[in-house]
Amino acid sequence: MENIYDVAIIGSGPAGLSAGLYAGRARMNTIIIEKEKAGGQIVTTEEVENYPGSIEDATGPSLIARMVKQAEGFGAKRIKDTILSIELDGDIKVIKGEKEEYRAKSVIIATGAKPRQIGCPGEKELTGKGVSYCATCDGAFFEDFEVFVVGGGDAAVEEAMFLTKFARKVTIVHRRDALRAAKSIQEKAFKNEKIDFLWNSEIVEIKGEGIAESIVVKNRETGELTQLDADEEDGTFGIFVFIGYMPQTELFKGVVDMNERGYIITDANMKTNIEGVFAAGDCRVKSLRQVVTASADGAIAATQAEKYIEDKF
Ligand code: NAP
Repeated sequence: MENIYDVAIIGSGPAGLSAGLYAGRARMNTIIIEKEKAGGQIVTTEEVENYPGSIEDATGPSLIARMVKQAEGFGAKRIKDTILSIELDGDIKVIKGEKEEYRAKSVIIATGAKPRQIGCPGEKELTGKGVSYCATCDGAFFEDFEVFVVGGGDAAVEEAMFLTKFARKVTIVHRRDALRAAKSIQEKAFKNEKIDFLWNSEIVEIKGEGIAESIVVKNRETGELTQLDADEEDGTFGIFVFIGYMPQTELFKGVVDMNERGYIITDANMKTNIEGVFAAGDCRVKSLRQVVTASADGAIAATQAEKYIEDKF
C-alpha cells in the first residue's frame, strides 16, 4: 500500500528538525524533506553562544548535527529532494519533489528565510569568517574590533547601534546619501559617536585568506574604488550585511496566506489558513528570528499536527 506519512516537514533547519524530533517522539510516521543539507542559516554561524544550554565551542554545524541525530533517533526519516509543487487542499496533502511524490496527513512548512546578499566576490567564501548576516549571533565576536554594516534600512541602523556595544568603531556603508531607516532610529545613530558613515558607497569585493582582511568600496557617484584594510594589529574586521531578508515561501504563494513581504501568517499554534498545514521558524511572521524561537515553533507545530490527526483521521 502507498505510504502516507502522518507529517511531512519541509525544511531541516532548527524549526524542521525540532518538529521532526517532536513528531518522531509522538510516534508519528514522519518525513523531513531537505533541499540541500540540513541546517539552514545556522550552519553559516561559526559559534553559537546564545542558544540556551549550548555547549562550549558549539558551532552552527555541530548544533545541527546533534539535532539531526536526535530527530532521527526518534524515527524521523530525512530525505534530500527539491519540492516542485504542492497540493495542500485535500485531507491528504501531496508534495511533488524532483525525485518522488510524498503524501501526508499534515504538512509543516519550515523553509526559513535567507538574508539578501551583496553578491560581490569574496562574500560567500568569507561568510562566518568576518562576513555575517546576524548581529545577535556574531556581534560579540567583534569585541574591540572594527565593523562595517551594509544597508540603510531599520535593520542596518538598529543592528549598527547594537554592534557598538562590542565594536570600537562601526561604519555604515550605504548605497545612497540618505538612510531609509525611521527618523527616530536615524537620530539615535547620528548621535552615536562610535558610528560613522560611508555614503553613496557599495562594497564590490571582500578579500582575505581564510578571514576577512580588506574590502573594496566603490563610490557610486565618482566610480572611485578604495581598498580598506583591517588594522594591522587586529588582522580582521566584521562585515555585517542587512539589506533585507527573503522568506523562502515562493512555493506556497497564492495558497497559504502571507503578509505583503511573503512571510506566512500563523496563529500562536503555528496553524496557517489551511487545515492540517502549519508553518514554523523564520518563514512565518514573527518578531524574533533565532534558533531558540525556530525550535520552539517546530515543537508547537508538531504537537498541533498530532492533535489535528487524532481529531481528523
Ligand atoms: P529594508 O527596509 O528593505 O532596507 C534594506 C536596505 O538595504 C535599504 O537601505 C536598501 O537601500 C539597502 N539595500 C537593498 N538592496 C541592496 C543591495 N543590493 N546593496 C546595497 N544595499 C541594498 O530592509 P530591513 O532594514 O531589513 O527591514 C525590513 C523590514 O523590517 C522593514 O519594513 C523595516 O521597517 C522592518 N524592521 C523594522 C524594525 C523596527 O521597526 N525597529 C527593525 C528592523 C526591521 P535603499 O535605501 O537605497 O533602498
